[in-house]
Parts: sequence; structure tokens; C-alpha cells
Amino acid sequence: MDLKSKIRNIPDFPVKGIQFKDITTLLKDKDAYKYCIDQITEHCKSLKIDYVAGIEARGFVIGAPVAYNLNVGFLLVRKKDRLPAEVERISYQLEYGENILEIHRDSFQEGDRIMVIDDLLATGGTTLAVFKLIEKLGGKIVGADFIVELEMLKGNEKLKGYEIFSLVKYNR
Ligand code: AMP
Repeated sequence: MDLKSKIRNIPDFPVKGIQFKDITTLLKDKDAYKYCIDQITEHCKSLKIDYVAGIEARGFVIGAPVAYNLNVGFLLVRKKDRLPAEVERISYQLEYGENILEIHRDSFQEGDRIMVIDDLLATGGTTLAVFKLIEKLGGKIVGADFIVELEMLKGNEKLKGYEIFSLVKYNR
């Protein structure tokens, strides 16, 4: 399927110079959405996963149906102060400023195998922070799956050693 034709490019959002890949146009297309979920599910099937962890917010939209398909539990990685129970937290640098992500401390058992899912891999900073957050709690990161990868930002290199998979790659 030609997924690039389903993704809308919004120049200069949220700040000047960023080419924002808007996947809402893909998600509202039932065949394209199903195709993406099915492909990512297939990729995960042989990897013996105990949990899928989705990164707020678009990672929820992709990760939850994949977890459902795999018949495994779904974990929420959320922005600061949104989870109600005891959390583990990580802060990391964004291009502009700092971001904080959290997960419930009792999300999983030590050694559980976890696949991280988000909509898009850019520099890899967000995904690497989530890997560290989960590893700090004793989880075993299997890798990360995305719909879109911006290859020119070399996120893949930052995440070397993990299983990284994406469905659509942009080189510029
Ligand atoms: P990064 O940490 O640089 O890999 O950025 C990944 C996160 O930022 C993901 O959660 C994406 O949703 C979002 N993001 C970064 N760059 C873009 C972009 N050009 N278009 C859409 N989303 C983006």
C-alpha cells in the first residue's frame, strides 16, 4: 500500500523549519489504518512480547490495537503528572527545552519483554528515553515499531542494538 500518499505534510508546524508528518489523514482511512496495525502486529509476532508500551498520544492509537491483536497487555507512557499511581519518571532534552515522561512503577515484572510503539521516529530521543525508563524498572526492551521514520535524522543509529521497524521512510 502507498502509505506516503495517505500522510499529510504540514510545513512549519509546530515551529518554523519542521515538516510535520500528519498521520490523522492515514488514521481516518480504514484500510490504511488496518494495514499499518496488521503489519506492525506481524512484525511483533515472532518476538515473544509480554507487553506493548505506547507513547502518548499517537503511540496509544497504534500501540493499543497491536497489543489487542497480540493478546498482550498495553502500558501507557504518559506526559508529566497524568498517571494516578506511583510513577517512574525520565526527563530528556528536546530541540527546544525539556520533556518528561512517566510510567507506573508496577506496570510489569522484572524481565518482562516489552515492545515500544510510537507514530514516528525522528531523532530517537523520545524512544531512547522510554527505553531507559523501562530498563530502569527492570524491563527487557525488545525494540520499537513506528509507522514513519525520518531516516535523515538517524534515530536508528541512536537506537542501535534494538529491533527497530518502520513502515514508511523519508530521506529529506
Ligand atoms: P524524536 O524524539 O526526535 O524521535 O521525536 C519523536 C516524537 O516527536 C514522536 O512522538 C513524534 O510524534 C514527534 N515528531 C517529531 N518530529 C516530527 C515530525 N516531523 N512530524 C510529526 N511528528 C514528529
